[in-house]
Amino acid sequence: MNIHEYQAKEILKSYGVTIQEGVVADTPDKAVEAAKELNRETGTEWYVIKAQIHAGGRGKGKVNETGSNGVVLAKSLDEVGPKAKDILGGTLVTHQTGAEGKKVNKVLIAQDVYYPGESDPKEYYLSILLDRGTGKNVIMASTEGGMDIETVAEETPDKIVKEWIDPAVGLQGFQARKVAFSLGLEGDAFKGMVKFIFALYKAYEATDASQFEINPVLKTSDNKILAVDAKVNIDDNALYRHKDIAELRDLTEEDPLEVEAGKSGLNYVKLDGNVGCMVNGAGLAMATMDIIKLSGGEPANFLDVGGGANAQTVEAGFRIILKDPNVKAILINIFGGIVRCDRVANGVVEAYKNIGDINVPIIVRLQGTNAEEGAKIIEDSGLKVTSAIVLKDAAEKVKEVLS
Ligand code: GDP
Ligand code: MN
Repeated sequence: MNIHEYQAKEILKSYGVTIQEGVVADTPDKAVEAAKELNRETGTEWYVIKAQIHAGGRGKGKVNETGSNGVVLAKSLDEVGPKAKDILGGTLVTHQTGAEGKKVNKVLIAQDVYYPGESDPKEYYLSILLDRGTGKNVIMASTEGGMDIETVAEETPDKIVKEWIDPAVGLQGFQARKVAFSLGLEGDAFKGMVKFIFALYKAYEATDASQFEINPVLKTSDNKILAVDAKVNIDDNALYRHKDIAELRDLTEEDPLEVEAGKSGLNYVKLDGNVGCMVNGAGLAMATMDIIKLSGGEPANFLDVGGGANAQTVEAGFRIILKDPNVKAILINIFGGIVRCDRVANGVVEAYKNIGDINVPIIVRLQGTNAEEGAKIIEDSGLKVTSAIVLKDAAEKVKEVLS
């Protein structure tokens, strides 16, 4: 689960990670109030207004309606209201949102931390994630902060240092020092970075996160180390242990069909193709998507209805697939292991009748216990449903209806 920058920073702060302070707001007036509060707390007179959406690249991104960037600097209190107005309610397009962009419902009013001083402010990159290959968490750091890490990885991979953490002993002092040293830091900034890394790692473990990305981490002109940005991803499977974090979920940031599927207990991922598919079991669903591709189609979704597919789950699945306007055909592929094919067939027929008005061809492939009875039920139903028992057959039929 992703959360917003302002939420992520609050969590990090509670674990002792030093952050660029800010106050969130959802109207221009509240943005001004937020700036005043920030001024009282930090003394700052310059403010950064940051669009809160679940995507990066906001600084370079543009708001469709006004042309404003998603992160802008206000050099006085007077500028805060109008600049917040140019972002709030607009559609922000960044290289991570796709062309349709994302609506901005909130802005974070943050203190300007790039103030001049004895040295220039310097941006670094720091992230923690699980390296599935080694089964260890890995800390990645780079002097090339503020840049897209994918670009750094491609063009100058030697500028990314990695430190793997042994889960049995946890993060060791020498490892944090090694990372800070590799960034060329010394004195107070070095000490600050070591502390920062420890606090960040503690937060990562305690929240059951699957990814932390702090880009940039800033060394201020007076050698403080601060998280300026924070991308935090929490492992969905651990959310039951973190009720407070689970509450931070922002459904407006998620695909509405995926949210609806979640409510029906279906495992659904929306894709861009034209063949909807409904399958029981994740492995069979993957194989089905391959078959769809082989027959010249593109899967419109991944949908696993689970082991005990019945009329209700089939109907819920149908409804979700049909809401996707790209769908030109639906392939239902059910293996009757625990569930019998005749029951599934009855479920399909019932769901079809309940929904009514289905204009796309449906191919049902039932295999396993009572497969033939299932096929007969479909054929006798008089509905525009084609039955197939062999998967290759089903693929051929998808090809026919698409051409
Ligand atoms: P992203 O573009 O979505 O990754 O958003 P970030 O939070 O990383 O901010 C983007 C950029 O805004 C940073 O790389 C900085 O260059 C700039 N920025 C962020 N905070 C400040 C600030 O306090 N002062 C100034 N002058 N620039 C800032
Ligand atoms: Mn960033």
